Amino acid sequence: MDTNQRHSIEQMRSNGMSYSNIAAKSGLSVNTVKSYCRRNNLEKKAIGDTCNYCGRTLTHTPGAKRKRFCSDKCRLTWWNSHPEAINRKAVYHITCTNCGVDFESYGNAKRKYCSRVCSGLARRAAND
Ligand SMILES: [Zn+2]
Ligand SMILES: [Zn+2]
Repeated sequence: MDTNQRHSIEQMRSNGMSYSNIAAKSGLSVNTVKSYCRRNNLEKKAIGDTCNYCGRTLTHTPGAKRKRFCSDKCRLTWWNSHPEAINRKAVYHITCTNCGVDFESYGNAKRKYCSRVCSGLARRAAND
């Protein structure tokens, strides 16, 4: 096994690819791939994630966005029991210093302008 093969095993493994798929792609035997992953702690990464709520192993569609829950039911139950996670970012109501419009700023209480246009205009005015 050369460095390239090792690297691509790690890559494929982190994408959630199965041992047999990796073996087929890399031209190695399934056992070689398996023991390499076992030795390098790559076993768990593969199927990788488990449902945030019930802990069931999640299957990933390669290329698709990673799921955090096995089902809608688990997702809803989890969110219901973690209301603080939804409000992780506070929303601030701020009045734009330039145009006077009220806008919402997510997680940043120090914004002064509603848009880049306004901050640009304000900066230009200050420079004049
Ligand atoms: Zn679940
Ligand atoms: Zn504005």
